[in-house]
Amino acid sequence: MANPKSFQFDLPSSGRPKNINLAEEWYPNIQPYAIRASSTRSYDPLLGIRAVVIHATAGLSSLGAVSVIQKGSASFHWLVPDENEDQHGKFVWATCHEARAAWHVRKWGSHPDVWDGKKMVNHYSLGIEIVNSQNKADRFSNWQIEATARIVRYCWAKYPNLVHVVSHAKLDPTRRTDPGIGFPWDKFEKLVLYGTDDAVSALVASAPKPNLAAADGDECCM
Ligand SMILES: [Zn+2]
Repeated sequence: MANPKSFQFDLPSSGRPKNINLAEEWYPNIQPYAIRASSTRSYDPLLGIRAVVIHATAGLSSLGAVSVIQKGSASFHWLVPDENEDQHGKFVWATCHEARAAWHVRKWGSHPDVWDGKKMVNHYSLGIEIVNSQNKADRFSNWQIEATARIVRYCWAKYPNLVHVVSHAKLDPTRRTDPGIGFPWDKFEKLVLYGTDDAVSALVASAPKPNLAAADGDECCM
């Protein structure tokens, strides 16, 4: 099993996707809480973004996850719903304004591999929480992995200086293990780097048109 404390890959300078559409909805009534549970970024909100941090909630529901934002104790930018929730397979929850520094990594959490070990990671990162109990019986669904990769691709397209994709566990190894040993990091990395539907549709769009007249046994067009 891979160790979440080692989970990281860096985005190459080539292959940056263009204009990824993200299926997201604001979590109902969360914005005013999100403003209170976040800070003004100390870097440029667009050019200053260097990292995306991957978390798992260690809980059972989106409702439980957003309660920390409502209490004002922590926050994150997106929440990926669990299999038994209505939104699963449809969209992810937006839970904090991207332009704000959400509170998802503690102040002194850092790693030399992530922007040369700069602390105050929240100020130069975006945080994604995936609803998962982090126990062995609770597998991440394929859609959860794909949706998380999709968010990262959306960020990669949008933030020109984004490089690092890293686990919370790597940034805070003495206190955190998320997203957990059950998170398929290699598969996730491939989905981020090579995409899914958008990569396929780009291939289809660039494929040469078949010459139907020349096809043998052409039944479809008779
Ligand atoms: Zn975390």
